[in-house]
Amino acid sequence: MASSDTIFGRILSGEIPCQEVYADDLCLAFRDVNPQAPVHVLVIPREPIAQLGEATDEHEALLGHLLLVAAKVARLEGLESWRTVINSGADAGQTVFHLHLHVIGGRPLAWPPG
Ligand code: AMP
Repeated sequence: MASSDTIFGRILSGEIPCQEVYADDLCLAFRDVNPQAPVHVLVIPREPIAQLGEATDEHEALLGHLLLVAAKVARLEGLESWRTVINSGADAGQTVFHLHLHVIGGRPLAWPPG
């Protein structure tokens, strides 16, 4: 389902500013506006996939790319340990319906999450 009208779609179009960390042809990484740790970066595909649960086989390469970019962002941020989270669906805590990977680190992280 298209999600180009979300706040992340508006960031991708340049309508809303962001603190960019990394960008390429397929994705954009920027700092979360409400960070949950010293490093909290979001990695989003340029393609407007609403949530992981709506991804299909045709997104296999893109999803792999997003994971590798999450690791690249962690390296760029100097993290040795970090957590990558994808909330898929409202009950999982997803609030913006444009697929995004959280890269969270810079402090000890508890497990399990709430
Ligand atoms: P989720 O709850 O997994 O959907 O995560 C959405 C994240 O987007 C939250 O951590 C928000 O703080 C973050 N967020 C919302 N609006 C913005 C924005 N304009 N720039 C950066 N991060 C944002």
